[in-house]
Amino acid sequence: MSTYRASPFSVSKTFEFGALPPASAPSEMSIAQLPTGATYRSASFGYRGGSLLEPREFSMTATLIKHPKGDLLIDAGFGRDIAQHLAKLPLFFRLLTRYSLNKTAREQLQSSGYDLSRLRAVLLTHSHWDHISGAADFPEVPVWIPPAERSFVHGEDFTTASARSIKSLHFEEYRFDARPYLGFAESHDVYGDGTVVIVPAPGHTPGSVIVFVTLPDNKRYAFIGDLAWQLEGVTEQEERPLPQRLADAEPRLVRENLAHMAAISARYPEMTIVVAHDPRSFASIPTLVPKP
Ligand SMILES: [Zn+2]
Repeated sequence: MSTYRASPFSVSKTFEFGALPPASAPSEMSIAQLPTGATYRSASFGYRGGSLLEPREFSMTATLIKHPKGDLLIDAGFGRDIAQHLAKLPLFFRLLTRYSLNKTAREQLQSSGYDLSRLRAVLLTHSHWDHISGAADFPEVPVWIPPAERSFVHGEDFTTASARSIKSLHFEEYRFDARPYLGFAESHDVYGDGTVVIVPAPGHTPGSVIVFVTLPDNKRYAFIGDLAWQLEGVTEQEERPLPQRLADAEPRLVRENLAHMAAISARYPEMTIVVAHDPRSFASIPTLVPKP
């Protein structure tokens, strides 16, 4: 049994990008994953054509980027008050959502002996409950979002009620420069060395972004947030089966950005596409080692 599979969607745009953009990563730069919990769903929930009978664990994972100019968390996963954050969402969604909470990002950082003063910001792929919850555990650390996402949080959309309920968050806006990156018209180079480059990828939310990371060994990642919910979204270019307006602010843009990332992935298979809720995409990223 599987969800209805639409005929492959057509995107009229073609995507043009040259060689992989250069990056000069300092040797101290590194990356680690902090798995904070999971929700339990089926493949059919993740992408069209997925089986109703195939369970899928949806990862809720923060990613630590260590950089000598200040560290970042890409998304924050589930925080200590996740039950309260989930409670802000509508009943139908809560009924659909069974979850487990592991150690939070803050707890994992602390038990590894991490110096929290190194953390420069939480960089959100978007502001939904399952990405922002853990940011509430770092009231001293700013949360980076572009202006479009900030307006979305401060609006009335039901999907950002959790974000609005966390009074301790302080948002810092960043803006994009008219500097193309892998076919995206604009980008924001966080450190100015090409190692962490954010591009706008609106659709799931108006200010959703993709974060490209390049490490000293030249390994490359694209953190695509919830552009897709499972890897098949990119590998098979399959959209979410949920009634579209329920899952995505602008489904047409999700489709376009999915096609764009599928094109990048086909052209540069060495780039790891990290789908926020697919644990398989974190396989090559180490976890933190707790201090004895
Ligand atoms: Zn999510």
